[in-house]
Amino acid sequence: MKTSQPQSTRFHNLDAIKEWTTQDADEIYQISRWGEGYFGVTDKGDLCVRPTQKENGPAINIMEVIEEMKVKNIPFPAVIRFHDILRSQVINLNKTFQATIEEAKFNGKYFGVYPIKVNQMREVVDEVVDAGAAYNYGLEAGSKPELMAALAMNTNQNSLTIINGYKDRDFLRLALLGIQLGRKVIVVVEKYTELEELLKLSAETGIEPMIGLRAKIATKSSGKWASSGGDYAKFGLTITEILQAVRHLKSIGKESCLKLLHFHIGSQIPDIRTIKDSITEGARIYAKLYKEGARIEYFDVGGGVGVNYDGTRSNSPSSINYTTKDYVADVVYMLKQICDIEDVPHPNITSESGRVITAHHSCVVTNVFGSIEIGADNFNTEKAINENILVTNMRDLVLELTEKNYQEVFNDASKLKEESISAFKLGILSLDERAKLETIYWRICRQIVAHASTDDYAPDEILQLKNQMAPQYLCNFSVFQSAPDTWAIGQILPVVPLHKLNQKPTELSTLVDITCDSDGKLDNFLSADGPTNTVPMHKLIEGEESYVGLFMTGAYQDIMGDNHNCFGRLNEVHVFCDDDDPTDFYIEEVIYGNRASHVLASLQYNPETMAQTVKSVIDQQVKRGKIRPRDGVDITDFYENCLKSYTYLKK
Ligand SMILES: *Cc1c(COP(=O)(O)O)cnc(C)c1O
Repeated sequence: MKTSQPQSTRFHNLDAIKEWTTQDADEIYQISRWGEGYFGVTDKGDLCVRPTQKENGPAINIMEVIEEMKVKNIPFPAVIRFHDILRSQVINLNKTFQATIEEAKFNGKYFGVYPIKVNQMREVVDEVVDAGAAYNYGLEAGSKPELMAALAMNTNQNSLTIINGYKDRDFLRLALLGIQLGRKVIVVVEKYTELEELLKLSAETGIEPMIGLRAKIATKSSGKWASSGGDYAKFGLTITEILQAVRHLKSIGKESCLKLLHFHIGSQIPDIRTIKDSITEGARIYAKLYKEGARIEYFDVGGGVGVNYDGTRSNSPSSINYTTKDYVADVVYMLKQICDIEDVPHPNITSESGRVITAHHSCVVTNVFGSIEIGADNFNTEKAINENILVTNMRDLVLELTEKNYQEVFNDASKLKEESISAFKLGILSLDERAKLETIYWRICRQIVAHASTDDYAPDEILQLKNQMAPQYLCNFSVFQSAPDTWAIGQILPVVPLHKLNQKPTELSTLVDITCDSDGKLDNFLSADGPTNTVPMHKLIEGEESYVGLFMTGAYQDIMGDNHNCFGRLNEVHVFCDDDDPTDFYIEEVIYGNRASHVLASLQYNPETMAQTVKSVIDQQVKRGKIRPRDGVDITDFYENCLKSYTYLKK
């Protein structure tokens, strides 16, 4: 299933830029906008990472990372993780909360948690926990395996471990085990029966639980995750159920176990007004519950802080119209205001931001290995004697075409092309004639597109033709593994060539992947004016390497990827900044992606048996004299080596 991509008739106007500089690259690819200062362009025209978000700070040239990977024999495509960005995002969020709380004279503290589901890689969680240690930053888990990871990773007694999602008995038991380990594990009740089950288990084990209640609040977000809020949301308790829960806990003398009030209205919330509304509603619920006798200590505002995937800083679904600072200020000040009006104490604040913590830290680097030109003009179209009239008519259209009548000529040419297919099916048109007619047709289309490009009033149909005729750049990666949200929900991710950014790109292209799936492509890109279907790329030069980066893949994309076509996980390098190193970086770790045998084994194949079977068939062919013994050994080795090799294309 693919949500149909919006057809855009917007194009980057590259012709308008006469003297191309790296500043133009920054604008065309909106690098400063989505990059939040973490990304920039070197004077040489390479894309670089600035871990300190400062233009004069250390800069890691991504092309130098690529060079080092080549030396280390790490093939592409690959994920590069910039751990300094991850750390910096954790520290920024915590510092912003601390500073705002101080400035607002708010009496509570901030106890954030990182929701593991956004990127569960151990190295990612490790880095987040480490960077957040000074702030008692905790973890959030939404499933049993995630909770098991959280219990093992977060050993800080002062930070929170928050559990969301539907829970069974084992899940609840694991939470109580966390309490036994001396940790602050809060079970957020999503469904009333979970509360009953938890209290039962607590009575059986004698372990006092820490309880949170998730409120189904009325505030709804817009964008792609709107269904997380409102009356029909999947999770949470209604106001009625919350009141019942509080009264029940009081009636059994367990009201002191109630620690946290939670709400989460969706991810990538595009509009700050929704956030304000949800805080207002949540704060009122907190205050009223407090007056009912619920001494809630933590006010948990959930996740939802978005990032600027498309750089527009608007309330479009791939963007947001606020900064993290705006968000934090709204949470702190609005909560304070309502608490003060209601005359209840300020609670501690918890948030579960995932996307904004991890999105920027990783990117996918792929090599472009070719391009598909639509209607290449390299076939001899010379007029033959007794040529079919359809071909002649198409030929005549070339002469008729002007910058005024291009729409009319397009209609005629399209009609002729249709007729030619009928004629071919009837056996009237030869293969050679069909090839000639189509070659001339595409020649006409190219000229039509050129005319339309300089016409301010070009019809949409022709502009869409321009999109359809855009060259397709073949990239060594799988959309389904590395950018699933671009396919599933039409999310825009930034795409930028990693070098030559000091030279003007001339080809407005789409990118296609190596899966055998026509959905395996990227044709929805950012521009300063809104989404476009093409991205500016440099002309490919025979014998020259070309690398392109897919950015902001650190949240969800990294971890949701699937095994479509058995490509599997990518090679990964973890890069750290080192200001003392001449290159400003070092590769701390290499994690190899899937070999063919790994992916096959995960689908119940036995690669060893496969190799034995192929070998025995080769042996038989050798015995029959069909294969020479020496070649038999070579091809057996070759098959076995392929099983041990990376699944993606070799250069
Ligand atoms: C997914 C999820 C989050 C993380 O949301 P982001 O938008 O990535 O910050 C937080 N809390 C809950 C309950 C979630 O389901």
